[in-house]
Amino acid sequence: MAQLENKVSAVVGDRTAKVLETTFGIKSIGDLMRHYPRRYMVRGELSDISELHEGDETTILAQVYSASTRPMRGRKGSMLEVVVTDGTDKLSLTFFNQAWREKDLKVGRQGLFAGKVGVFNNKKQLAHPDYEMIPDGSDVDSAVEGFAGKYLPVYPASAKMPSWKISQCAQLAIGSLEEIEDFLPSSIREKHKYPSLHQALVQLHQPADLDHAELSRERLTFDEAFLLQSLLVMRRIELKKLNSTSRKRISGGLLDAFDATLPFELTAGQVAVCKEIESDLSQPHPMHRLLQGEVGSGKTIVAVRAMLAVVDSGGQAALLAPTEVLAAQHLRTIQKLLGDLGQGGMLGGSDKATRVTLITGSQSAAARKEALAMAATGTAGIVIGTHALLGEKVEFKDLGLIVVDEQHRFGVEQRDALKEKAILPPHLLVMTATPIPRTVAMTVFGDLDVSTLRELPLGRQPITTHVVPVKEKPSFLERAWQRINEEVAQGHQAYIVAPRISADSDANADIDFLFGEESSEITSVEELAPTLHAGPLKGLKIAILHGRLSADEKDSTMQAFTKGDIDVLVSTTVIEVGVDVPNATIMVIMDADRFGVSQLHQLRGRVGRGTSPGLCLLVTQCEEETPARERLNAVAGTLDGFELSRIDLEQRREGDVLGASQSGTQSHLRLLRVLRDEGLIEQARDDAESLIATDNDLSDYPALRAELAQLQRDQAVDYLDKG
Ligand code: ADP
Ligand code: MG
Repeated sequence: MAQLENKVSAVVGDRTAKVLETTFGIKSIGDLMRHYPRRYMVRGELSDISELHEGDETTILAQVYSASTRPMRGRKGSMLEVVVTDGTDKLSLTFFNQAWREKDLKVGRQGLFAGKVGVFNNKKQLAHPDYEMIPDGSDVDSAVEGFAGKYLPVYPASAKMPSWKISQCAQLAIGSLEEIEDFLPSSIREKHKYPSLHQALVQLHQPADLDHAELSRERLTFDEAFLLQSLLVMRRIELKKLNSTSRKRISGGLLDAFDATLPFELTAGQVAVCKEIESDLSQPHPMHRLLQGEVGSGKTIVAVRAMLAVVDSGGQAALLAPTEVLAAQHLRTIQKLLGDLGQGGMLGGSDKATRVTLITGSQSAAARKEALAMAATGTAGIVIGTHALLGEKVEFKDLGLIVVDEQHRFGVEQRDALKEKAILPPHLLVMTATPIPRTVAMTVFGDLDVSTLRELPLGRQPITTHVVPVKEKPSFLERAWQRINEEVAQGHQAYIVAPRISADSDANADIDFLFGEESSEITSVEELAPTLHAGPLKGLKIAILHGRLSADEKDSTMQAFTKGDIDVLVSTTVIEVGVDVPNATIMVIMDADRFGVSQLHQLRGRVGRGTSPGLCLLVTQCEEETPARERLNAVAGTLDGFELSRIDLEQRREGDVLGASQSGTQSHLRLLRVLRDEGLIEQARDDAESLIATDNDLSDYPALRAELAQLQRDQAVDYLDKG
C-alpha cells in the first residue's frame, strides 16, 4: 500500500513519473492527488451541435472536419482553428498559441469536446475547449464508456501527458493508497458535513456523481483557507507574545499640544481608530495593525498622532513611504501640521517640541549626514524616508514605531529589515492606499489587526466624475479644457494625467497596471503639455511631472504646485498616491481606459480635498459598450473605494490579487480564490480562531500541527527560491 509521501513512480512506473515531474512538477503521490481536475465531461449528456446556444456549457461527441493554424492579425501569436462536425452541424474550436494541439486534432478523428459556447462572426464556437480524443481504431461507444466511468475528469494537460493519461495515473494511485490521516479536526469536518480527506480526494478524481465531486472540491478549498488562516492566527498570537516597550500616552505632552492646535475636529472614525492604536501602543507587546481607509479619509493625521504618542514616551517613529515624491510631501505636511512643535531645539521651537527629518537615496551627502545624526542621537523624533531608511548606515536611538505608508509596494522582508533597527520589536502601523475587500485583507494581512476608516471628513465635497468619449463626442474634450480655464480663473488648480511620459517612451514607465495593447496613439505628458500650452490652455502656467525627472526637479515642481505657482500640472501617475493639494479642483485623465479601476479612484482622490467640489473627467477613445467603457462607467458611478477595488480585483489574476510578496502563500492556493470564496474564508477564519483560542499550540491536534509545519517549510522554501 502506498502513502501520499511515496514517489509517484512506485505506482505509475519510471517513464510516466518522469513526464509527470517535468511537465507538472509532480513527484509524490500526494502531488498527483493534488493535481485536481478542472471539470468533468458527462457521458450520456452529449448534445447535438445544431441545438447549442450561446452561453451553454456543453459536451459533444464529434469528428474533426478540418484544422488549420494561422498567424494572428495585428498581434503576436498564432491561432489554431479546428472545425468539428457531429452530422447535425459544424462547430469551430479555437486555440490561441497552441499549434501543438494540431497533432491531436487530426482530420477524421473523433473525440469529446467540452466548453462554453460562444459566438464569433455569427458562428458558434468553443474557445479553448477541453477535449478527449478517442484512440484510433477503438469502437466509439465502448471507448467513451471506457473513459473512467460516467464522469470523465478533465485535467490541466500537455501534449506529452494528456488528460486521460493523468486520469489513469490517478486511478492507479487511488487503488493503492492507504487510508489518509485527516488533519482537519473532526468537529470542524462534521460541522460542515464534509467528507474525510481520503474520500474527498477519491471523489474528486473518480466522482460517483457531480454533487459528491462538488462537496469534495469545497472541502479541499476550505482546507486551503483553513490552513492559511490557522497559520496567520497563530502568527498573530505569537507576535502578541513578543515583548516590546509600552508607549503610554502622557498627558501634557507633545500629543496634547498637537491636538490643541489641530484646525479641525477628528471624524468619529478617526477618533475610534486613534483609540485602538493608543491602546495597542500602551501594551508591552508590539502592535501589528493595518489601517485601511477611503482615499482622503485622513489616515495621515491618525499616523501622526500615533508617532507623537511614541515620541512623548521617549521613543522615535519611522515613516516609510514608497516614493521620494511622497516622502518629501510627508515631510512638508508633517512639518506644517506640527508647526513649532516640530522645531525642537531651534529658535522659536516649543519646549515640548521634537524634530522631523528625511532620509532618501537622492539627497545630498551633507543633508544625509545631518539626517543620519539626528536619527542616531534621537534628536529627530520622526524620521521619514523611502527605501533608503532600510540602509545599513541608518541607526536610531530608540525606534518605537514603524509606520508603513501605502504598504502594497513594500514586502514583508522590508518591514523586517527596519524592525532590526529597534532594540525591542517595535510597534507597527501599516497603511494601505487602496481600500481592499475584507477577505483579501484577511488573506494578505491576516496576521495584522485591521482598522478601517470609511467616512470622509465633514464638509468634504463629493467628487463628480464624467466619462468623456472623444470618438462619439469630440466637442466634450473642448469643453474639458474650457472647464480647466474656468477653474483656474476662480483661483483653483488642475491636474492632467497621461499614461506615458513621451511618445517614444515605454508606456509602462510610470504605470503598474496597463490595459490593452501597445498603441502609438496613447497620450504622453511631453507631447500634451506643449500642445495645450499653445492651444486650449494658452496663458495658463503649465508644468510637467513624471518619473524620469530628477528628484530635485520633481520636488521643486510639487512644491511650486502646492504653493499655487503652477496652474496646471501635466503628469503621469507619479501623483497617484497621497499627493495632497486641497486647492486643486479638477482632474482630466487622458486615455483613462489605460488605468485600473482602483488606480483611477486613487487618482481622482487628488481633487476635492478642500472645501470646493472636485471634478474628474475620464477621457477615452474607447467605444460604447466595450469592457473598458464599462470600467470607466463603474468609476464614474460610485465613490465607494471598497466596491471599486472589488471590481478591479475581479479582473486580475489571483497572483496579482495577493501581490508578489505573497508568492510563498500563493503556490499553496490551488482551489481557493479570495474574492469568489469569501464565505469559505470567513468561515475558515472563525473556525481557526475558535480552535486556536482553546488550544494555542494545537497540542491536541498533532496531524493539523504537522500539516501546518509542512506548509510553513514549503513557504520558506518558495520564499528562498524567489529571492
Ligand atoms: P488619506 O487617507 O487619503 O491619506 P489624508 O490623510 O491625506 O488622506 O487627508 C486628506 C486631507 O484631509 C488632508 O488635507 C487632511 O489634512 C484633511 N483632514 C484629515 N482629517 C480631517 C478632519 N477630521 N477634518 C477635516 N479635514 C481633515
Ligand atoms: Mg495618504
